[in-house]
Amino acid sequence: MGCEEFKNLTHGYLDGELDLVRSIEVEHHLEECPSCLRAYENTQAMRAAMREGSLYHHAPPALRDQIASAVCDEAGGSMRISPSSNSNARWWIGIAAAIFATAAITWQFAPRTNNSPSYALASDELVSDHIRSLLANHLTDVVSTDQHTVKPWFNGRLDFSPPVQNLADEGFPLIGGRLDYANSRSVAALVYQHQKHFINVFIWPTNESPSNTTSLTIHGYRLVQWSSSGMTFAAVSDTSSIELDRFVQLLQKEPTTSPVNSGS
Ligand SMILES: [Zn+2]
Repeated sequence: MGCEEFKNLTHGYLDGELDLVRSIEVEHHLEECPSCLRAYENTQAMRAAMREGSLYHHAPPALRDQIASAVCDEAGGSMRISPSSNSNARWWIGIAAAIFATAAITWQFAPRTNNSPSYALASDELVSDHIRSLLANHLTDVVSTDQHTVKPWFNGRLDFSPPVQNLADEGFPLIGGRLDYANSRSVAALVYQHQKHFINVFIWPTNESPSNTTSLTIHGYRLVQWSSSGMTFAAVSDTSSIELDRFVQLLQKEPTTSPVNSGS
């Protein structure tokens, strides 16, 4: 993340509006960039001051009357109020603070309109789910390398039965499963390991006809998505794209609706 992007996200971060991936990026930038850290602390202090109202000063009653009558008198010309006394000066500080606050709020809302993600929300959500599962130490609800243990575990927890395969022989051992939430519904998450990398495979039912795989990279994580046999699959990992593509091809090759043929 660059300094300009950080600046655009500062207020969203302070308001807790950023997704997990963005928040982590902001925190990384804060650790690395002293000048942005200083700007961030200034923004934090300014917001605290605005919250406490210490930037605001009340106009003295005489001045308020003067303003009120000037506004009443004024139909088309300009108001003539001279800040000649100390109390008037305090009032002008209040005006300046109000203008400053308005400018700050405008700055807060203006840049983020240019910052909307170009990828689908669900894709972003799936990558966030993947990262959260690694960060929150909540990779699996059921730990097993056996698909015959993992598959029944989802019974009664989901309104569909996800196809579960173990690809240990091909270098992608199944290590367990988890319930997760994406695309506005509960989904199955199957967790595979490849060397030191984890792969989350999210599965949920779909009405769409079988589709070709589509892939995209979000925040350095690769997401590969496809539909088949009435299910949508989304595999997310930080393993190399060659390895993830190989994994996806293996998943697609194996029968997903009938038992594995153990004949040969
Ligand atoms: Zn910076």
